[in-house]
Amino acid sequence: MQSSEIVLTVMILSSISFFVWSVFRIYRFVRIGKPAYDPVDRLGWRIQTVMQNFFGQKPVVREPSGWGHFFIFWGFLVLSMATIEMFIRGYSPTFHWGVLLGNGAAAVLATGFDFFGAAVAVAIVIAIIRRYIIQPDRLRKDFAARFDAGLILGMILTLMLSMFVTNGYIIRNEQALSGFTPISNFFAGLVTGTRDGAMPTGYHVVWWVHNLIILAFLSYIPHSKHVHLVGALPNIFFRRDRQRDRKRGVLKKIDFEAVDFEADETTLGVGKIQDFTWPQLLNLYACTECGRCQDNCPAYHSGKLLNPAILIHDLKDHLNDVGASIAREEQATPGETLVGGVIKEEVIWACTTCLACVEHCPVFIEHVDILQDMRRYLVMDQANLSEEAAKTLDNMENIGNPWGMPNQNRMQWCEGLDVPLMKDKKEADYLYWVGCAAALDVKNQNVARSLVKILREAEIDFAILGTEESCTGDSARRLGQEYLFQMMAEGNIETLGKYRFKKIITTCPHCFNTLGNEYKDFGADYQVIHHSEFLAELIASGKIKPKQTVAQPLTYHDACYLGRHNGIYDAPRSVISSVAGGELIEMDRSREKGLCCGAGGGMMWMDEEADKRVNVVRFGDVEATGTAMVSTACPFCNIMLDDARKMKGKEDSIAVKDIAELVAESLGSD
Ligand code: SF4
Ligand code: SF4
Repeated sequence: MQSSEIVLTVMILSSISFFVWSVFRIYRFVRIGKPAYDPVDRLGWRIQTVMQNFFGQKPVVREPSGWGHFFIFWGFLVLSMATIEMFIRGYSPTFHWGVLLGNGAAAVLATGFDFFGAAVAVAIVIAIIRRYIIQPDRLRKDFAARFDAGLILGMILTLMLSMFVTNGYIIRNEQALSGFTPISNFFAGLVTGTRDGAMPTGYHVVWWVHNLIILAFLSYIPHSKHVHLVGALPNIFFRRDRQRDRKRGVLKKIDFEAVDFEADETTLGVGKIQDFTWPQLLNLYACTECGRCQDNCPAYHSGKLLNPAILIHDLKDHLNDVGASIAREEQATPGETLVGGVIKEEVIWACTTCLACVEHCPVFIEHVDILQDMRRYLVMDQANLSEEAAKTLDNMENIGNPWGMPNQNRMQWCEGLDVPLMKDKKEADYLYWVGCAAALDVKNQNVARSLVKILREAEIDFAILGTEESCTGDSARRLGQEYLFQMMAEGNIETLGKYRFKKIITTCPHCFNTLGNEYKDFGADYQVIHHSEFLAELIASGKIKPKQTVAQPLTYHDACYLGRHNGIYDAPRSVISSVAGGELIEMDRSREKGLCCGAGGGMMWMDEEADKRVNVVRFGDVEATGTAMVSTACPFCNIMLDDARKMKGKEDSIAVKDIAELVAESLGSD
């Protein structure tokens, strides 16, 4: 073996060993997490999701900037063959793939190397311009992030250039590279040649530069932001299928009977990094730091401390700091406290659970569960919650609604309407679950009355629970009080169990989600329909016939628990198009990209600083459409947008109405 071969072998083995050690270290850190769901159920689906979302880069190319990543990703896969060829030439200087695969295959490969090398180089130049000149808000600006990105981008660009230069030398001196290789040919015209076909010194210099960068890159990846090259594939493979059974935003049920309340360890929520489940810890190593979550986060856009991208980054740094001690089961774990230290309480309390971060994350990170778990720890383990949150939970526990209104008020909205009660009828085709907002909030009471008018027009057999109805517990669960939520769920399931009905209708996406999706974990399997879908069906079937159109151009605000949580985007739009005289003008942020109103996640009940109100930011989107009305299909959105318009003094110029009110108006007066 020549000395250069010995040096090369030592460097390759060192680099691979360091890479394997680094990946094993990550594996050990992920393993400190708690057990989760069966990670290898539905193997076929898991393989399919990897093919689509990892190799196909489906979520990445949803945005134009993702195409750069697409070409870099595929470029790396194709160019790995060029890399192998390059390393083999360190031992066999005239090696090329034609020797092993035949000239035809080698020509195809050489053409691919030229094309993908050029594509990667162009994508890297665009990425450099984007990061250092355009500097979009979503990219981290701190020195470490800029340095890390610069180093990686510089390495990749040098790799592409050095590949073209070495190929140029090969063409010039060996005439060995066949295929369509215009760029390598171009470099062949620039480099020097020798008369005897031996490679000039320049070739050897560039060859070493190329291979040393590859080895440095391999060693650096697991310790840089590019650790996602290691974490993304397993994270996509082991992800939870949130689309299935419309269970996208369903929170984990805590089995309180299995909790050992005497044990020292934290068992309620997450107070230490090792309280997360292993898939949650794996999430941290999958983050590409693309900033899409931040770009869509209402908390971030309203100036709060929460930034979902930074949340994941900080948790990963913390795990890297303390993971080794925890894995070695050392008694005292060094490092900052997780909740309140690494992740500030304001961050944990700013999330509206709107799911925008989860929706837009290309590697399926689940920020909401991570935040909710820490919230559960604060509330149930530490009894650390704001006065408003405590008051809300108190109201829910003692009176059965978050407003704290007396239970008999639940029937005020329908005084004089003679609405049938389940306790009298015992059975009905539809049980109309009114919900606390429509029963108790003055603005939303008109939504309930409108729905009753429509039900009667369509001659639907329905009844309500009246004072037997209680809050579903959604806000308690999102505020971290799982125990109270479970008590309320069990109480409601018992009440519903007394009556016979085919379906539950609700005007509230939160009730819809809780009754239809979350109660399943408690043995209740109801058919629940949101009024947007119900109204769309009534109109489509001709059971109700709008007699008059009601509005000028209007816009529609997507409720997070209807849209992102349950995939219902078209039904409310179809209802609006049937009853509105004017055009539906979409806000820039609509459907999957719709910005939250600020009420979800129990935030409805929390005080926001005047200059950091999510609803005001969202109302700005409404104003930007220039319409005189925003329609909603959620009582919380209705309240939040109504509050925002009052705050902005727009009561006279912009109306806020639920789609049920539009439909009822379109039916004309009684
Ligand atoms: S759920 Fe919404 S508010 Fe919470 S972190 Fe994600 S984007 Fe931000
Ligand atoms: S969490 Fe997901 S969306 Fe957010 S920066 Fe990381 S990869 Fe991008």
